[in-house]
Amino acid sequence: MSKNKSSESVKVVVRCRPLNRKEESSGPVGGIVQMDLRLGQVILRNPRASPSEPQKTFTFDAVYDGNSKQRDLYDESVRPLIDSVLAGFNGTIFAYGQTGTGKTYTMQGAWLDPEKRGVIPNAFDHIFTHISRSQSDKQYLVRASYLEIYREEIRDLLDPNHSSTRGLDLRESPETGVYVQDLTSCVCKSIKEIEEVMNVGNQARVVGATDMNEHSSRSHALFLITVECSQPGPDGRKHIRVGRLNLVDLAGSERQAKTGVHGERLKEAAKINLSLSALGNVISALADGRSGHVPYRDSKLTRLLQDSLGGNAKTVMVATLGPAPAHYDETLTTLRYANRAKNIQNQPKVNEDPKDALLREFQKEIARLKAQLNHRRWRSKQKKEQVDCEDWGRDSDEEMEDEEEAVETETDDYVKLEEQRLEREKEAITEDQFLLVEEKQKLLGDLRKEQEATEQLTAKYKAMESKLLVGGKNIMDHTNEQQKMLEVKRQEIAEQTRKEREIQQQMLVQDEETVELRETFTSLQQEVEAKTKKLKKLYSKLQCIKAEIKDMNDEHVGSRQELEQTQNELTRELKFKYLIIENFIPPEEKNKIMNRLTFDPEEDQWNFQPLVPAQSKFSQMKKRPTSAVGYKRPISQYARVAIAMGAHSRFRAENIMFLELDMCPPNPSSLDCLAEAATNQTPSQENSPTRNRDIHKSSSWCQSSKSIPFSSSNNSLSACPAALAK
Ligand code: ADP
Ligand code: MG
Repeated sequence: MSKNKSSESVKVVVRCRPLNRKEESSGPVGGIVQMDLRLGQVILRNPRASPSEPQKTFTFDAVYDGNSKQRDLYDESVRPLIDSVLAGFNGTIFAYGQTGTGKTYTMQGAWLDPEKRGVIPNAFDHIFTHISRSQSDKQYLVRASYLEIYREEIRDLLDPNHSSTRGLDLRESPETGVYVQDLTSCVCKSIKEIEEVMNVGNQARVVGATDMNEHSSRSHALFLITVECSQPGPDGRKHIRVGRLNLVDLAGSERQAKTGVHGERLKEAAKINLSLSALGNVISALADGRSGHVPYRDSKLTRLLQDSLGGNAKTVMVATLGPAPAHYDETLTTLRYANRAKNIQNQPKVNEDPKDALLREFQKEIARLKAQLNHRRWRSKQKKEQVDCEDWGRDSDEEMEDEEEAVETETDDYVKLEEQRLEREKEAITEDQFLLVEEKQKLLGDLRKEQEATEQLTAKYKAMESKLLVGGKNIMDHTNEQQKMLEVKRQEIAEQTRKEREIQQQMLVQDEETVELRETFTSLQQEVEAKTKKLKKLYSKLQCIKAEIKDMNDEHVGSRQELEQTQNELTRELKFKYLIIENFIPPEEKNKIMNRLTFDPEEDQWNFQPLVPAQSKFSQMKKRPTSAVGYKRPISQYARVAIAMGAHSRFRAENIMFLELDMCPPNPSSLDCLAEAATNQTPSQENSPTRNRDIHKSSSWCQSSKSIPFSSSNNSLSACPAALAK
């Protein structure tokens, strides 16, 4: 299965958007973010601090300022990842940052402007161009899915009913890792088709929200592309490689304000914070490297990104910043987040011949259909030979032609051949004077059916085959050699720039370490000066680190306060629910519910067990309880005791009409009279105008019955047999 077991770190790039018009007109000149593109450094100025305070510097794999082009970011930072996906690796690109800093711009951009097309449309281009240029012995199958996570619910954006159905569930398999159950996936044969899929999903997102930006800043959007490639290996067998690409546009990273919001809004804010803080915790745990437990299960987002963070995937994180001084705190948090993510190590490997490859199923189905068609062809040929033997009058030239045609294995030819044969048979049947009319009809009907079946089979075969993309098929319409060369060169340049930046960064680190070694002092004075300079440098470094520690502490205090607040809210809600349970739900009902609860660790939630176990449902339902001896109908132990105690009229008996007569306790010796009286009394009771009062009377009787001794409390007809038994 695995080809490459080496680990590699998550690639982190930072992009800062230009100041927008509003910011330009309102704020002081310039932003707070400076970038050194050559070194890959971001320098952040605190607008509230004194000018003497040192600025904060962060180093990343690459940085892109406001003037950067979409194409540059793609070629330098994304292209290698997509190439890996085409080679069978898993890949993830996610955009992280505050709302309005350019996450969607980076991921999608302006589709119609070639200069402003983002990562996703460029990736579409890249994938399909690669397929069209690859060798013809390769077969590809490309699938796309689109989902969003909103308030911890997964919604399938390609399912037209997604808003009415409940969120999808996550499952885990050893083969594919974590996946979404029942997620729609569309087979795409061209750039146009995959763009269409994206459009449908985007429309679904818009429909679900009144304000797109409002909605998109609160939900995470994931576009998933699976590329399966089949290629003959050195052993002569076809091997399938599956690359999965996740393109993620995260919710705005700013803390959703929880103060002053209630109900639904509070829950929503808590849930958005939950998945983003869970992502932060996962990144921290992974970056730390020491903590054994990584809390992937804390949110849907982190579970879905489980492979991308610390697992089998190559990952690029694009952290987006805004240059406005007003957002200094958020910008700093984003940079810290991104800085931490650099330390995550992944173990990407090629996914070769997984059991669930759809391409394999498609290939099998195509082979099966082909075999069926061949079989039909063979059968028709045999039939034809039979007919030919009988039909002596046929031309020998025609025979020759037929033979030639039969040799042709192409499906189209076969269909034509088949049609001709069926037509001939039809004519023969019609002309045959000896056949009865019904028989003729029957044979014609059979022929028609056969014809239809063949047509259906051919159509199915063609449809299946058209879904597979064959490499090298349309190389001419897609590109020419020059364009290919240009791209290779562009790639080389991007690679060169990346290497140069890496070397520069290494040099900077080494410079600081070796500066001391290179220095030779001619005089004591010079030495003192040099050392003072160094001391000053180290001192400023110390100050920087101290400030960093203070910032971190403040941040921790802030998030702890927020957590405490959430905890308080939740405790309050819990107490409220307890209050309801204790005051409105009878204890035995509560116990019943508690006994039926089971915890599903897979889903991370509590579920109700069915009242009747599934397998014994019918046997239990069919069998009704039998009544105890002496009772007319099944009666519980509790009811029996209640009858004995005369506690409540509900448990006493069924025929209240006799209660009137039972005012004095029945005497076992006069039971016959009692029965007689009962038959006499019933009609008069029916007609009595005071019938309604009987109920009242019976209840008063019930109260008085308490004083009646147990032995004589057989106060209803149902109790009579018991009395008789005495
Ligand atoms: P987010 O998705 O992070 O909320 P958007 O992608 O919607 O932010 O960007 C907000 C605005 O900023 C959009 O109008 C977008 O066109 C603009 N913008 C973002 N990044 C850039 C950039 N690098 N260059 C030019 N405009 C940008
Ligand atoms: Mg957005």
